[in-house]
Amino acid sequence: MIPFLSLKDVTALHGAEIQEAVRRVTESGWYLQGAENKNFEQHYAQYIGTDYCVGCANGLDALIWIFRAYIELGVMRPGDEVIVPANTYIATILAITENGLTPVLVEPKLNTLEMDDSQIEAKITEKTKAICIVHLYGRLAHTERIEALCKKYQLKLIEDNAQAHGCLTADGRKTGSLGDASGHSFYPGKNLGALGDGGAVTTNDQQLAETIRSLANYGSSVKYVFQYCGRNSRLDEIQAAVLDVKLKYLDEDNSHRKQIAQYYIENIDNHYITLPDTLPVGSNVFHLFPILCSHRDVLRDYLEQHGVGTQIHYPIPPHKQECYKQWNAMNLHVTEQIASQELSLPMSPAMTLEQAKVVVDLLNAFAL
Ligand SMILES: *Cc1c(COP(=O)(O)O)cnc(C)c1O
Repeated sequence: MIPFLSLKDVTALHGAEIQEAVRRVTESGWYLQGAENKNFEQHYAQYIGTDYCVGCANGLDALIWIFRAYIELGVMRPGDEVIVPANTYIATILAITENGLTPVLVEPKLNTLEMDDSQIEAKITEKTKAICIVHLYGRLAHTERIEALCKKYQLKLIEDNAQAHGCLTADGRKTGSLGDASGHSFYPGKNLGALGDGGAVTTNDQQLAETIRSLANYGSSVKYVFQYCGRNSRLDEIQAAVLDVKLKYLDEDNSHRKQIAQYYIENIDNHYITLPDTLPVGSNVFHLFPILCSHRDVLRDYLEQHGVGTQIHYPIPPHKQECYKQWNAMNLHVTEQIASQELSLPMSPAMTLEQAKVVVDLLNAFAL
């Protein structure tokens, strides 16, 4: 049996150190807003290459807080538009609509699975305030063209870095430091995952960072004084301590993912299966390993019957969801094609090359 992802095995990679961190916090008697948060935030900001990191409850909140803070600061107003990829996890879109902003969906390219930057400029209106890029599957989604459009139209560049911790541009900058603000998720299955929920915002904008820190703490920066109607959206001390341990091994864990991915890329050979374009080394941290297959569901059942677990990211795109009825009639055919053909192969820092070989042999033997 080869699971899609065994979190138990991933945790066990650094098990003793993680247990020690949990024990330290347990015995400290201090569980929120303490030294562990401060420590992790400092290390994570340093790792990403930004001046500020603000921990919060989860990745969705991290994104929600970025837009909410821009609204509180008068940079955006409800009704303004945000350009965003149509092919993304729904949390990216929810963060926009939660704030009364309007997502403007842009199709991906089938060969990259990321937003097609040639379609962005035509979507920019008077109301556009930001472009939100998503480094989906661990693939760099940032392009020079997107950066130039943000400059030309004075738009905020916001990154959803939930799936790409440690991903690099060609000139060595980390995703999460490329725009004005970035949301990160530490959901257990992410490349940098906690033992529960966790998230963070990274930015070089001090005012934005302070506003977000306040919003995520009931809207308060001085005890019992409330400047905003905020929420409770904090990162636990235990999670911060665990994340600080795992951050030390993130690059090592990512290079293990790259080895597995390299094996897949070099050896998958079946005309029913298409792989997305290969990116320069460093610009893909392989959070997931997506393949496309026009007989995806048959392939998935076949792998399952042979003991190999897979997942689909994602079977129903945001614009086809019941919660976004107003977009259900939209025709975003590339996004819809990805939803019907995408299959994510087993991928994790705990997976072995022998397991990857079993997966590849099965894939190469697949026929209708
Ligand atoms: C996981 C994820 C999120 C949300 O993160 P949570 O911590 O689960 O709230 C947002 N965007 C993308 C692309 C994700 O994959």
